[in-house]
Amino acid sequence: MGERKDYKPLDAMIYPRYSGLRTFMRLPNITDLDGVDFAVVGVPFDTGGTYRVGARFGPAGIRDQSMLLRPYNPAQQISIFEVCSGVDYGDLVTVPGYLPDSHQIIAEQASRIFASRATPIFLGGDHSISLPLLRAAATKHGPVGLVHFDSHSDLWHGYFGGKDTHGTPFRRAVEENLIDTSRSSQVGIRGPLYDVSDFQMSAEAGFQMITAVEMHNTGLPTVLDRIRSRLGDGPAYLSFDIDFVDPAFAPGTGTPEVGGFSSAQSLELVRGLSGLNFVGYDLVEVMPSYDPAGITSLLAANIVYEFISLIAQHTQSGRGL
Ligand code: MN
Ligand code: MN
Repeated sequence: MGERKDYKPLDAMIYPRYSGLRTFMRLPNITDLDGVDFAVVGVPFDTGGTYRVGARFGPAGIRDQSMLLRPYNPAQQISIFEVCSGVDYGDLVTVPGYLPDSHQIIAEQASRIFASRATPIFLGGDHSISLPLLRAAATKHGPVGLVHFDSHSDLWHGYFGGKDTHGTPFRRAVEENLIDTSRSSQVGIRGPLYDVSDFQMSAEAGFQMITAVEMHNTGLPTVLDRIRSRLGDGPAYLSFDIDFVDPAFAPGTGTPEVGGFSSAQSLELVRGLSGLNFVGYDLVEVMPSYDPAGITSLLAANIVYEFISLIAQHTQSGRGL
C-alpha cells in the first residue's frame, strides 16, 4: 500500500460550486484506489424494484445535489480532507434488465474495491444491490454486523416466484451467512403489512428489530445505545434505505412509508455511530423522477457526507490504517 494521495474536492474559491463535472462533492474521478481512504461508487441498477422504478438514476441525482458539501463538518468537528483522501470511483457496470447477471458483475467489481485500503460508499440503485455488495464484503471480512435503516425488513423469501428483488436481499444474506445477525439491527421498521408473520420476520431471523413506533417513544439516544451495544467492535456494514426517512423529507423513493424520521433525526442517528468498525456503506432507493425539488437527493448527499465523516474519524483515530 502506497502513501496517502492528496485526493480532495475542487477548491470552491477557485472553481465556483456550480462549475465542474458532477462527481460526488466534486472529488476526482479515480479508479486506482492506491493511497485512497474512501471511494464513492455508483451502482445504477433498479431491476430489483417491485413497485416504482427509477433508482438507476439515483447516483446521478445524489451527485448533482452534492455540490454544496464543504470539507469541514462542525457536528463531528472534523476537517475531512486533512486526514482523509477520497475519490468518486464512477459507476459499476450493470446489465440493464438482467438481475442475476448484474448481481454477479456487481459482486466481482465490488470485491476488487474491498480488496483495496479504501472504504467504499455505494450509491444505489434499488436495495437488491446490497446482496452482491455483502457477498463482496464477506469475501474479505467474513460475516459482518449489519446496521440497516429502512421502513422494511427486506427479508421476504421471494416474490412472484423469483428469489431476488429489493424486498429479499437480507433473507439471502442470512441464508448465505454474509451477516452475523447476533450483532445486527434493523432500524425504523413500520408501515402496513400483509400479515403478522411479516412483522415477526426480523426477530425470527435473529436481528434486533427496532420499530419506528419504539423509536418515537424512546428517543434516539436509547436507539443508538441499543445499536452500538449489539454491534460491538467487529467488522460492520451500514445499509441505509432512504425510505427510512419520512416521505415529507424524502418523497423520491420506491415504496414510501409515512410515520418516519426527519432529516435532522436521520443525520443525528448516523453521527451517533462514530467509532464503530464499518467496512462499507450503501445508500439506496433514491429516485430522482419522484423528487421534483431534489430534496431526497440533497438529503442522501448529506447522509453520505456523514458516512465520509465517520470514515475520516476512523482514519484519524488510526483504527482504519
Ligand atoms: Mn424500504
Ligand atoms: Mn430496503
